[in-house]
Amino acid sequence: MTCPRCACNTIETITTSPDPGVWEVLQCPRCLYMWRTTEPERRTQRHAYPVQFQMTAEDIANAIEVPTIPPLLSAATNGSRSAAERT
Ligand SMILES: [Zn+2]
Repeated sequence: MTCPRCACNTIETITTSPDPGVWEVLQCPRCLYMWRTTEPERRTQRHAYPVQFQMTAEDIANAIEVPTIPPLLSAATNGSRSAAERT
């Protein structure tokens, strides 16, 4: 079993169908991609996974840090009401 997104060969089974043997939900521990075995090949097979979304171990290691969420603007500076004020 190979991860469709990053080609990792270690895949974990997250859950299985209540009716045994119908489907499994799998997850890649490296890129966290998760899929159900009954999804189409473009979601479950590396060779059919869209090239623009494929990743390598290098891509993951070199991924830029996810930017932090900036502080909320106050109502006085942005001219709009906050969520708390609208309710
Ligand atoms: Zn992966």
